[in-house]
Amino acid sequence: MKYLPVFLNVQDAPCLVIGGGDIAQRKVHSILRAGAHVTVLSPDLSPGLQALLHQNKIIWQKALFTVEALKGFKLVISATNQRKVNEFVAASAMSLGIPVNVVDCPDLCSFIFPALIDRSPIILAISTGGASPILARVLRSRLESLIPNRYGRLAGLAERARERVKKAIPEATHRRRFWEETLQGGLQDLILNGQDQQAEREFDRLLDVACKPSSANSAKTTGFVSLVGAGPGDPELLTLKALRILQEADVIVHDRLVSDGILRLGRTDAERIDVGKAMSRHTLPQEQINRLMVSLARKGQRVVRLKGGDPFIFGRGGEEIETLMEEGIPFQIVPGITAAIGCAAYAGIPLTHRDYAQSVSFVTGHSREGLGCQIDWKPFVNTQQTLVIYMGLQAFPAIRDSLIREGADPHRPAAIIEEGTTSSQRVVVGSLESLYEKATAAGIKSPALIIIGEVVRLHSKLTWFGSSKVHESMESTEL
Ligand code: SAH
Repeated sequence: MKYLPVFLNVQDAPCLVIGGGDIAQRKVHSILRAGAHVTVLSPDLSPGLQALLHQNKIIWQKALFTVEALKGFKLVISATNQRKVNEFVAASAMSLGIPVNVVDCPDLCSFIFPALIDRSPIILAISTGGASPILARVLRSRLESLIPNRYGRLAGLAERARERVKKAIPEATHRRRFWEETLQGGLQDLILNGQDQQAEREFDRLLDVACKPSSANSAKTTGFVSLVGAGPGDPELLTLKALRILQEADVIVHDRLVSDGILRLGRTDAERIDVGKAMSRHTLPQEQINRLMVSLARKGQRVVRLKGGDPFIFGRGGEEIETLMEEGIPFQIVPGITAAIGCAAYAGIPLTHRDYAQSVSFVTGHSREGLGCQIDWKPFVNTQQTLVIYMGLQAFPAIRDSLIREGADPHRPAAIIEEGTTSSQRVVVGSLESLYEKATAAGIKSPALIIIGEVVRLHSKLTWFGSSKVHESMESTEL
């Protein structure tokens, strides 16, 4: 280890920044955030530093550097673009025993600045020991995406309760276990979702249970259900929030549509429950799925209900939430990229386009009543809109006939996308009239999404993802 990582207390400490340009300005901002009193020494100031001066946030010494200027300062940063000045500052500060940093010159520094992730009061500092600040920044952005913005609030709650917990649970091992369970349980989700009051109440309950294990309602951790959209297939289309929650889950209750690549992202020791849901082949009836989630949460488990695409688009998310609400189970909903959005992008078919479509509709081909029959197709024949049909493969002949009967042009461009966004994606293009036969000939199977509208014309031009073999052989002269 080349450097000793420490966190320096500079609250109200006089600190000197030499240089008045943009780099100096960045450093000034960092040390101001830590509560330092900042003096900038430079013949001139950047507009940003001038603004800070007008707001009385910094003091300006309009001068060139001399050794005397260091007197009384606890920390020095040199950010001039002249190596000679920087060397002089460094040597002078070191001889006086004042910690000094020269921006971008590790050889002249007695300390260096790490890349920071600020979730105050939690701070993560990353350093490559001066080897590559860019690499430190790359790592920082990776970690940024893993640590939610409100994470610091969790530390705030812990800080406020620290003394109280110490008194309530005097035994150290018992207390450590309490903190471990509490900070990783569902309480975290309450805080991250801004439900602070509920979180405080839940904290009190958990402390009560820890002190009197026999008390009623004694689940040790908070059960919590997250209804998470897993996107259409490509695991990289998960949201950051979905990924984090998946990695924290004790139990993952998932549909058949959710790919193995996504399920693998959960903890290896998490229980995975497949509740099926192939169309008309429900492994578990909806009511039982709802009951299952309630009972898992009641045991204090962190449950992820993982659904293909988005939970609120033909995903029965609403029905599942209703049960949780009735039972008083805390929950959250994490949206996902729905199949229409994912498949359209990966098939190079923009769903709207200034020249072709001013609106888009998502319709199911499989309603509660059965295959596509209950729907009034008249509103969808308008040529200036795009129609996307979910679960429409089986019912497509009936849908096609209804649309044509209502006045749709049989030659209207149409496409079907099978297993969109995955490495198995296939796209078949035709017209409203010809698509079903072409799809059948190509052996297209579920999950498949149908897009009807002029925008399909753009597919041949905008194709970018995966193999376009099927598309080439199926490309129709009609388009
Ligand atoms: N909640 C999901 C939709 C569930 S309904 C969402 O928002 O995407 C299931 C239907 O979605 C399938 O029958 C199919 O029409 C469509 N679908 C889901 N994933 C798909 C994929 N990767 N490729 C093509 N269609 C898909």
